[in-house]
Amino acid sequence: MITAERYHDFSCGHRVHAHEGKCRGMHGHNYRITFVVQGDTAELDALGRVVDFSVIKDRLCNWLEEHWDHRFLLWERDPFAATMAMLFAAEPATDDMSHLAHSLIQVPFNPTAENMAAYLLDVIGPAQLANTGVKLIRVRVEETRKCSAIAEHLPG
Ligand SMILES: [Zn+2]
Repeated sequence: MITAERYHDFSCGHRVHAHEGKCRGMHGHNYRITFVVQGDTAELDALGRVVDFSVIKDRLCNWLEEHWDHRFLLWERDPFAATMAMLFAAEPATDDMSHLAHSLIQVPFNPTAENMAAYLLDVIGPAQLANTGVKLIRVRVEETRKCSAIAEHLPG
């Protein structure tokens, strides 16, 4: 099996609800996300590629850039969610961002690296790669260069 992969670096805040230690506080990481894709067929294209790397960039890396970069990820069931949404919404609009409320992203999972990887693999990947001839089979979310989580589907 031949796969293609590309990573993307971005910065993002989060807190892990009910964490036993310091990850319970609001903090952020310089995340590195690595996407691995596999073709719908075993054949490479006429040029010898799984897919052009620009497809991974355009469909997946840019999604991260638009939706999670310089945002704060908060579980929608986190008790902080309502209060933080109110605080962000109260900030005046700025020139470069229509409203600071956009920087708070409520996600349907407690934002651990594991849950982020699973969400990217199972929700964002299929939506973003529709009709590209490839599917996302593996996502690695690195919170630091030492700590990462991987979600993957068995090749098939
Ligand atoms: Zn963290």
